[in-house]
Amino acid sequence: MAISKILLYYRFTPITDPTAVMLWQRTLCESLGLTGRILISRHGINGTVGGELPSVKRYIRATRAYPGFRDMEFKFSEGSAADFPRLSVKVREELVAFGVPGDIDVDDDGVVGGGVHLKPEEVNELVDTRGDEVVFFDGRNAMEAGIGRFRDAVVPDVETTHDFIDEIESGKYDDLKDRPVVTYCTGGVRCEVLSALLRKRGFREVYQIDGGIVRYGETYGNDGLWEGSLYVFDRRMHMEFGDATDHNFVQIGRCIHCTEGTNTYRNCANGQCRRQVLICDGCAGTEAGSYCTGCRSTVSVDA
Ligand SMILES: [Zn+2]
Ligand SMILES: [Zn+2]
Repeated sequence: MAISKILLYYRFTPITDPTAVMLWQRTLCESLGLTGRILISRHGINGTVGGELPSVKRYIRATRAYPGFRDMEFKFSEGSAADFPRLSVKVREELVAFGVPGDIDVDDDGVVGGGVHLKPEEVNELVDTRGDEVVFFDGRNAMEAGIGRFRDAVVPDVETTHDFIDEIESGKYDDLKDRPVVTYCTGGVRCEVLSALLRKRGFREVYQIDGGIVRYGETYGNDGLWEGSLYVFDRRMHMEFGDATDHNFVQIGRCIHCTEGTNTYRNCANGQCRRQVLICDGCAGTEAGSYCTGCRSTVSVDA
């Protein structure tokens, strides 16, 4: 059996007819037997597809034939196409759902007015030269930041990407407007937009990390400015960039019941609750410990 591969990619580029691109991409994936999820908007494309290696390679060649996608970077990821049982190719108003499609302009070079791209080494250089003045600003939701983040990062109080605009405009972060702000997210796509939105709102010196946390973590493992685990949106739930038992590994996630270190989000045992919470192995093994704190107080269980 052929090796199965997962491909991650995005590109911000003007697309005049997103529906035509969507139909072309859907047909292309179907003909190659690829599964996964692709979003197209008038601002570009963002996709995760999986399939057998020769098909994936053919997909890259065909997709790069579209002029706007010629320079798109494709990243191979661990995992297999079995993680994506279906194919979904859709047109959306925004590639990243900040809820402000009219606020973003895109040209052939990408998002207009975005933050300066830094390679992982340049992130460390910035911190070396500017010291504590530098602020890391988490571009992800609170749940993702709950198990890993950059050292001393500002973690906005957001449940979804949609909450960012209100949070930024609340005034809470106005004291950061004159400091060097480094935005970061999993693979970089959210920060392409977030960094531009911050600059539009008066943040004067904004940076973003090339390839996001993934590339930074691959470069520095446990020896850089990243601490803890990376939340990932597949069955693995989280990943580490070095040995999690190594003395350099900083455990960020804490069990909601006993504060024991853990990286594991679990579904609350109440089927109606749908909350995912950090619960350590020990607590998860008890009936009371298998609920979120809210549900635990309402169910009668033998402790
Ligand atoms: Zn616990
Ligand atoms: Zn619950």
